[in-house]
Amino acid sequence: MHKRKTEIAIDAVKIASELCKQVQSEMVSSDAIQKRDRSPVTVADFGSQALICNAISDTFPNDIIVAEETSHSLKQNAELLKRVTEYVNRFASEDTQKKNIISSDAVCDWIDVGDGDNVDSFWTLDPIDGTKGFLRQDQYAIALAWINHGEVQLGVLGCPNLPHCLDDPDSDSGSLFVAVKGEGTSIYTSNGEYLGKANVSEDSSRLAESFESTHGDSNTHKKIAKQLGLTKPPLQIDSQAKYGVVARGEASLYLRLPNPKYPDYRECIWDHAAGQIVVEEAGGKVTDANGTPLCYLSGRRMINNRGVVATNGILHAEALSTISALYSRF
Ligand code: AMP
Ligand code: MG
Repeated sequence: MHKRKTEIAIDAVKIASELCKQVQSEMVSSDAIQKRDRSPVTVADFGSQALICNAISDTFPNDIIVAEETSHSLKQNAELLKRVTEYVNRFASEDTQKKNIISSDAVCDWIDVGDGDNVDSFWTLDPIDGTKGFLRQDQYAIALAWINHGEVQLGVLGCPNLPHCLDDPDSDSGSLFVAVKGEGTSIYTSNGEYLGKANVSEDSSRLAESFESTHGDSNTHKKIAKQLGLTKPPLQIDSQAKYGVVARGEASLYLRLPNPKYPDYRECIWDHAAGQIVVEEAGGKVTDANGTPLCYLSGRRMINNRGVVATNGILHAEALSTISALYSRF
């Protein structure tokens, strides 16, 4: 793996995490709007994407980035664009600031660097994964991955509100996961202090699933967890922080079975690429609910995959056979 790519990705996710934390602590209601699909987007989603896309394109101008947001709706909301521009100016690197003040047009251009098409090798970015959690002052993640020839090579997952240890009420918050293909998954504090390598748990601990009940099939998740002997109450948390807790051994299974109300829903690539490598490099396994590898080359959505199953590896085959006993195939 290109060492420079890893360094740039870590720095970019760290600075975007700082912007997100600041916005979360100062949010006003006009800082969030609804997108056409009725999902929320905030000042922080746009600001985070602008900073990360600019940091990547500054060093790797030819790299393609496929990111969740575009500046389209932002350009139609002058108040929101002003807020995003203020935050980007506050958090852009000193080098950029020395050059001059970053205009709103430049901020929109930075965001739209993320409007690339996934070809063979590209970055994929979710500037805020779990925006609903972010709005609830709860869990969210900044998720950046480098995909080379269709395979995730690098994942940087910033979880600004995730405690270092979920079961320790005194533990500090802010966990950053960095996974490099063949080199394992490292965990850092928000300030970049190294906490150690992530390792999945060999024991069956508990289930992790979305906090948002419409993003999965909670009733079926519970049945499967029970059959697999996972007796602790499930961890219901937003965003790819779920992959982080599987990688750290705090959950041994993350289920995301298609919600029966939305059978045509297909997962977005930026919702899984960073998380997948974080779990795999910690010793776990990730496939879709049919056992098919996740495919990042079919466009912005994984049209050939159904749902997601992430495990500590040991549980994987049994989890898939339990699922297929309930459903012939998704
Ligand atoms: P989570 O925080 O894990 O629940 O995931 C948040 C992501 O769920 C968002 O970024 C959306 O892209 C995605 N999402 C929205 N609707 C659905 C759905 N019906 N099924 C699965 N994921 C969804
Ligand atoms: Mg997302």
